Amino acid sequence: MEATLAERVYNFSPGPAALPLPVLEKAQSELLALPGAGASVLEISHRSKPFGEILEKAKSDLIELLSIPDNYRVIFMQGGSRLQFSMVPMNLLRGTGQAADYILTGVWGGKARDEAVKEGDVRVVWDGKDSNYDRLPGGDLQLNVDAAYVHFTSNETIQGVQFLDEPHTSDVPLVCDASSDFLCRPLPIDRYGLIYACAQKNAGTAGVTVLIIREDLLDRCQESLPGYLNYRLHVQENSLYNTPPTFAVYLAGLVFRWLKNEVGGVANMLERNRRKSKMLYEVIDDSDDFFQGHAQQDCRSMMNVTFHLPSDELQQAFLDEASRRGLCELKGHRSVGGIRASIYNAMPIEGVELLRDLMVEFCDQNRSSH
Ligand code: PMP
Repeated sequence: MEATLAERVYNFSPGPAALPLPVLEKAQSELLALPGAGASVLEISHRSKPFGEILEKAKSDLIELLSIPDNYRVIFMQGGSRLQFSMVPMNLLRGTGQAADYILTGVWGGKARDEAVKEGDVRVVWDGKDSNYDRLPGGDLQLNVDAAYVHFTSNETIQGVQFLDEPHTSDVPLVCDASSDFLCRPLPIDRYGLIYACAQKNAGTAGVTVLIIREDLLDRCQESLPGYLNYRLHVQENSLYNTPPTFAVYLAGLVFRWLKNEVGGVANMLERNRRKSKMLYEVIDDSDDFFQGHAQQDCRSMMNVTFHLPSDELQQAFLDEASRRGLCELKGHRSVGGIRASIYNAMPIEGVELLRDLMVEFCDQNRSSH
């Protein structure tokens, strides 16, 4: 049975997540034969001219989108962000004789720390677990000037807390897991040492992880590392050290092009993301505590809106009604419970409007009984 466009729901999945429709349509139209290649992108060599062009275009579009300075390198890797939890300390901590600082603002930061401790000395400089990660560090963040690097998670996908601004680390390289908010806004790249993001939320599909790394940090990568795990080799070989996930790179390239040409860049994307998330947070704030947001107000995520309803029964009724209206994948992660609306770049405004309307109606109908 052929799936039709009409069957598409508004998909609030935390990832792999909704893709922009024009990207899917473009991929569909080119799937049997990539223009000029005489074969599908799924069938051609990673060393062929057409794939080389795809890779170069994806890179140059990303460089343009984020105004990445010349002293940074972009690479595409496999292994997801989880592999980066290990590769970051393997490459940037081993052999330095220093310790790395980790800021834990949610589940993912904790998992990054769990891998880093296997590679070297790690200091947890801030941990929000006592309040189930509903906040970010404020004046209580004390960073060490002698750290090998500082690691943080710009957006915690499960708890829905997002940094508005990056931590100030002076000369210590800042490493960011940007998996769930990559390309949601402009970034001052020169304040970062390394940024990594798996693509399956905001930048494409599962299988590829995008890395932006400051060139001088490559001097830390030790020869003794297994080849695949050494950043320097991926940079030297221009992401072709081994066979890259060609289709995922192609798709990420289409997403970058969509952002550039159809959205008009990441500053426009930020405006859209602000508008979308505000719509939902306003309903939460106006609901007289019927909806209770998980994140504190000053660190609410534009990407993952997390909130609770007064009871499990009401939550289930809400999810059932949402699903009847074609609003899917809204159940929160088990560690937080409640609802999580993942509204990444590709979620259309109309999807968020429908969710907002449902929230308003549901609150009006059920508030008095609680
Ligand atoms: N970091 C964050 C912030 C994430 O949201 C995720 C995935 N949900 C990961 C890391 C892990 O990514 P992957 O599954 O690609 O390894």
